[in-house]
Amino acid sequence: MSFIKGLKCRECARVYPKEALYVCEYCFGPLEVDYDYAKIKKVLNPKVIAKRPKNMWRYRELLPIDGKPTDGLDSGFTPLIRAKNLEKALGVKELYIKDDSVNHPTLSFKDRVVAVALSKAKEFGFDTVACASTGNLANSVAAQSAKANLKRYIFIPADLELGKIVGTLIYNPILVAVEGNYDQVNRLCSEIATIYKWAFVNINIRPYYAEGSKTYAYEIAEQLNFQPPKHIVVPCAGGSLITKIWKGLKEFHKLGFIDRCDTKIHAAQATGCAPIITAFKENSDVIKPVKPNTIAKSLAIGNPADGVYAVATVKKSKGFAEDVSDDEIVQAIKLLAKTEGIFTETAGGVTLGVTQKLIKQRKIPKDESIVVCITGNGLKTQEALTGRIGSPIKIKPNLASFEESVPRF
Ligand SMILES: *Cc1c(COP(=O)(O)O)cnc(C)c1O
Repeated sequence: MSFIKGLKCRECARVYPKEALYVCEYCFGPLEVDYDYAKIKKVLNPKVIAKRPKNMWRYRELLPIDGKPTDGLDSGFTPLIRAKNLEKALGVKELYIKDDSVNHPTLSFKDRVVAVALSKAKEFGFDTVACASTGNLANSVAAQSAKANLKRYIFIPADLELGKIVGTLIYNPILVAVEGNYDQVNRLCSEIATIYKWAFVNINIRPYYAEGSKTYAYEIAEQLNFQPPKHIVVPCAGGSLITKIWKGLKEFHKLGFIDRCDTKIHAAQATGCAPIITAFKENSDVIKPVKPNTIAKSLAIGNPADGVYAVATVKKSKGFAEDVSDDEIVQAIKLLAKTEGIFTETAGGVTLGVTQKLIKQRKIPKDESIVVCITGNGLKTQEALTGRIGSPIKIKPNLASFEESVPRF
């Protein structure tokens, strides 16, 4: 049974059939999936959800596929962790980590969007998938398409971290490293997508793919017993995740699963690539593209496709936007590890660093509930920590050497 009415232009509201389309022919606005919420309400409610397996497909009526999900069957339902030690360190009352650094199968939130994209690509009859990626998407498309027996082409900027490259190559895709930044990779892929009949998950399948991000918000709400937090701090690259977290909460409100929708959504970027934050701070309706220069490579999109909507989300939800330097990113990665035992990648350092900043600026009050989005795993971006975390104490294999060299706690 299908709960999708079709696609609808986000700008002019013109409707389109549910096909592999992504831009409005009339106004060039992006297309978005349009659901039949009345029909969904008849079959879905918190009790029904609670009985289902603990993965992202427990919300399947709110995801844009017509048949049964075929991919990412173990993705999602990652832990929401009460961060007691971090609360103490930051002087706040109630703080949670939504931990997609342990998502299945490739340790980032991208497993959610790829699960939907591949399920949909198969419904459309594609036998080849592709993507333009800053790293995590490459990992997830490569892994999930291997399992799905799809042909796969992955395009990345040539200067990615080793962990992201190895974590893609291992699944045996055709991996193309483009000598340029992500925005150049993406432009090239848009051209290729007009010629080759491939499902580019974040280009021609984008309206469907992006919907997978909503499950991150559904889980936050469900894991807090349908009492959404006062604040969510979200890392932004293309700006899609942040808009979908807000959309997910609004949908739960519309369906009556939560009785308020007053969560403030805050945007986080690295200072070396902060076009969304700059537009917010300058109160501008346009995104000025930048040339990225930051260790947070997974967020290094200088010309974000959903940037305008990301800024609008922050404003509508009455949130704020901040950026942090590379040094602050490293400090935050270390703080999360030593307080909560969670090793996040540079993007997680961005979100936690921005959370600290917003608390200091009193834009997030210390007595209100906060969820920090941790979207990727630190083992993939080890370069960022080189020379910044000390080194092991080397000793000889005897007791004397141990007693001489090892300090006591
Ligand atoms: C892709 C990515 C994001 C942000 O995604 P957008 O939807 O493009 O804003 C956040 N964190 C990590 C680790 C990512 O890989």
